[in-house]
Amino acid sequence: MKKYLIAGNWKMNLLQAETANLISQIKEGIQNKKIDDVDILICPPFTNLSIANKAIENSPIILGAQNMHFMPKGAFTGEISPEMLLDSGCRYVILGHSERRQYFKEDNELLIKKLQAAFDNNLIPILCIGETLEERQNNKTFEVLYNQITIIHNFSREQLTKLVIAYEPVWAIGTGLTASTEQIKEVHQWIADHIYAHFALQIPILYGGSMNDKNAKEILSTENVNGGLIGGASLKSEQFLKIIDAAIEIVGN
Ligand code: PEP
Repeated sequence: MKKYLIAGNWKMNLLQAETANLISQIKEGIQNKKIDDVDILICPPFTNLSIANKAIENSPIILGAQNMHFMPKGAFTGEISPEMLLDSGCRYVILGHSERRQYFKEDNELLIKKLQAAFDNNLIPILCIGETLEERQNNKTFEVLYNQITIIHNFSREQLTKLVIAYEPVWAIGTGLTASTEQIKEVHQWIADHIYAHFALQIPILYGGSMNDKNAKEILSTENVNGGLIGGASLKSEQFLKIIDAAIEIVGN
């Protein structure tokens, strides 16, 4: 039986009252549902972590962050440390999201430090990898993915048992375009094979890119898909709950 991780990446959205509201709707929606094999994660902006941590009390919802600095403390104006995330109740952290790579120039050198910091602090990193449309059209998909995934070779097998990878084709993020199940299957298989060949390990591989209530069941049923990283649709309780329902339905079968 599969276990799923359904993760909401709220990006730079929602104020505190909206955060509490959305969480209470999700809590209400999952009440009385059999979610033992579906982990539900939300990743609100930093300013909403504390209120989210309070709001998820007495629920199975898990909290994560969208980014962090790699240093424990110090003169890094505007940054947030791993310890601060732990202190705010986070168990996961998204690293290397394509928006961070594109707008904030995050590269492999920086991401190695961030992964190390996550492992050192017992935060579970969700490392995002994915190609642009141009790269796919130029048959560079696997070259790009290789160059991004290669940073995991800086870590031990034991550390990597705590890693989650999210395959997020950049052209599918926030665009309403989703990768086809054939494309998802091909890439997820490639990632799973790479990790197994080098580390004899199976780790969760999420798909991200315009996943919604309509396509979730098909995507989540695809081989080697262990969950979703969901942006837009995670901001609407009805949609996020339907994605969770799709996962519950699959594990129940
Ligand atoms: C994301 O930001 O990780 C994402 C997948 O966004 P969306 O679901 O909106 O495409």
